[in-house]
Amino acid sequence: MAKRVVFLMSDTGGGHRASAHALAEALHVLHGDAVQCQMVDLLTHYGTWPLSHAGAYYLPLVEQHRWLWRLGIGCSNQARLWQAVALSARLWQRGGLRRFAAEYPADLYVSVHPLLNHAPWWALRRRYPHTPFATVITDLASAPRPWYNPAVDLLSASCSQVQAAALRAGLPPARVLLGGLPIRLAFAASRPTPAEARAALRLEQRPTALLLGGGEGMGALEPTAATLAARLASQGGQLAVICGRNEALRSRLARQRWPGAVHVAGYVDNMPLWMAAADLVISKAGPGTIAEALACGLPLILHSYVPGQESGNVRYVQERGVGLFCDDPDQIAALAVNWLAPGNAALAAMQARARVAARPTAALTIAEALSKLLG
Ligand code: UDP
Repeated sequence: MAKRVVFLMSDTGGGHRASAHALAEALHVLHGDAVQCQMVDLLTHYGTWPLSHAGAYYLPLVEQHRWLWRLGIGCSNQARLWQAVALSARLWQRGGLRRFAAEYPADLYVSVHPLLNHAPWWALRRRYPHTPFATVITDLASAPRPWYNPAVDLLSASCSQVQAAALRAGLPPARVLLGGLPIRLAFAASRPTPAEARAALRLEQRPTALLLGGGEGMGALEPTAATLAARLASQGGQLAVICGRNEALRSRLARQRWPGAVHVAGYVDNMPLWMAAADLVISKAGPGTIAEALACGLPLILHSYVPGQESGNVRYVQERGVGLFCDDPDQIAALAVNWLAPGNAALAAMQARARVAARPTAALTIAEALSKLLG
C-alpha cells in the first residue's frame, strides 16, 4: 500500500505551498506512486479565528499594519512568551486539530509553515504516537522561533544560520539536516535558453528584467514598474511584471499604456520559464523567489521585505554578492539599466556567484531524509 505524507501548510504568501509542492514532486521522483502526498491548509480549514483568516489578513497586515506584524514577530521571538502562546494555541485550537488528526491519518507529517510546529505536533502525537513529524524551514536567513520544536523527528534548515538557530533552540544535532530551501526541480533541470524561453512566452528578444512581489504581488510594484518601463524602453530592454494573486494590481497595470515592451501577468504557474527568459530579477525578499533566482543564476535587486521574517534575506543576498537592496524606484531603474547594458562584467560576476550560492536540488536532498522517516 502507498505511504501517505501529509504536508501542513497555509497560504500566507506563496512560498510555503510552493515548497510543499517541490517536496511532493521530489518524493514522487524518488518513489513514484509508492508515496501519496496531500497538502492541507491547516490554518484556513481547521483553525479558529483569527488563524482561520491568516491567508486573507496576511497582505494587509504586512503592508498596512506593519507595527502589528512587527509586534507579533517580536513577541514570537521571546522564548517564554512564545511558550505561553503555543500552549494557549494548543488549548484554543484543540477542536480543529483533533478533527484534522482524525481526517488525515498518515505515515509522515511535514510542516512547511512557522505556525504549524507546536500545537499540531502535539495533537498528532497524542493520536498517532509513532507517526514521525518533520519540519522543513521555508524561511531563509531569518526564521522566527515558532519554527523550532525540539521534539520533532527531523528539522531541515534552509541555510547554515538557520541550522545554528535550530541547535540553539535545543534540537539534537542528529535530527537537524542542512537541506537548503526546497524549490521545484524545474529550476534545476536543463532549462530553455533565454531565447527559447522568450519565444515560448511571446516576449521580445531583448535584455529582460523580471519584476516580482511574491505570491501576493507585494511591495511598490506600480511605481517601480512605471520607472523601470520608461528607462528600459530608452535602452532597448523589456520588462515583465508578475502580480501573483494581486488581481487589483494586475488589472491596473494591464490597462496602462506603456512606453516600451512591458508584459503584465497575474498568477503564473510557469515561473521557471519566466526566470529562464530573464536576465535579472527585481523582487520582494521572499525566500522562495531568492532561492529560485539563484538556481537560475539570476542576480537580484530586492525592492522590499517583510519585517522580521525577511530582513535577514536581504543580508543573505548582499553577503553572497548576488544582489542589492534598493527601495527607490528611480535607483532601481538606474541599477537595472546599468546591469543590463551589453557586456556588463558586474552582471556576469553576480550570475556566476548566484550559481555557486544556489541549492537547486534541495528538494531531493530533503526528500531523501523524509524517505528515511517513512521507512
Ligand atoms: N509564484 C508563482 N507564481 C506567481 C507568483 C509567485 O508560482 O505568479 C511562486 C514563486 O515562484 C515562489 C513563491 O510563489 O515559489 C513565492 O514565494 P516567496 O517565498 O518568494 O514569497 P511569499 O509569496 O511566500 O511571500
